[in-house]
Amino acid sequence: MQFSLVNGNKSAPFLKGVGLCPACGNKTIAKCGSVKVWHWAHANQESCDPWWENETPWHRAWKAHWSIEYQEIVHTSKESNERHIADVRNSVGLVLEFQNSPMNDQELASREAFYGNMVWVINGSSFQKNIKICAKLPSPENQISKDMRICAPQLNSKEFLYWLVSENEPGATMVEMHGSHRIQSFVDETHTGHHLFMWKHPREIWFRSQVPVYFDFGGETLWQLVKFNAGPTFCLRVSSKAEFIVKNGGQVRAS
Ligand SMILES: [Zn+2]
Repeated sequence: MQFSLVNGNKSAPFLKGVGLCPACGNKTIAKCGSVKVWHWAHANQESCDPWWENETPWHRAWKAHWSIEYQEIVHTSKESNERHIADVRNSVGLVLEFQNSPMNDQELASREAFYGNMVWVINGSSFQKNIKICAKLPSPENQISKDMRICAPQLNSKEFLYWLVSENEPGATMVEMHGSHRIQSFVDETHTGHHLFMWKHPREIWFRSQVPVYFDFGGETLWQLVKFNAGPTFCLRVSSKAEFIVKNGGQVRAS
């Protein structure tokens, strides 16, 4: 944790610091070494929050966009009294979880149910090399796009294949396919950041999330994992990290 209560104040770790865990109230000790980022650890136990992961500079850099009052917020379930510490909970109650490590389905489902109104930001640096961004797609919000069903991407293709719901009988086993070259200007004009992608050894857990999932591959952009429309095909929508931060109540500081 980056914060413990020292004389009732939310405090960052300092040399020889002693505090109280804001979640369980037990004693915490400041760890100010040179290997891990400075943090607070429970004096007599592992973290009281099994969902808490060891923090890296990546976590800290993300959380620092929100003021301290919104970081590491203890969230208590009204039903079960269970407590966990959210990385960020902003002024309108949206929880942002910055996640480095993989997790199983059970943990994913529990965490999403516990916080409800939340988004995931996933550190994608370890699997970025397995992801290839493919053809550009039109805006799924467009009326024409709503009629389109996009097929899985073709390797090394700037084009994609699609079929139209309106051109085919419901439940048809064969459909008429089209190449995107014939609608390229429509794609270019309506594009709002969506791309097909291929993922070798995918972390499939993220396809099963019920809340917004964003991948951080470094740099100034963020890639949201979304379904293109009512069809089954997932795509990645690129947007600006700064925009995401500001939209969610954080601040982008000049570095
Ligand atoms: Zn605790």
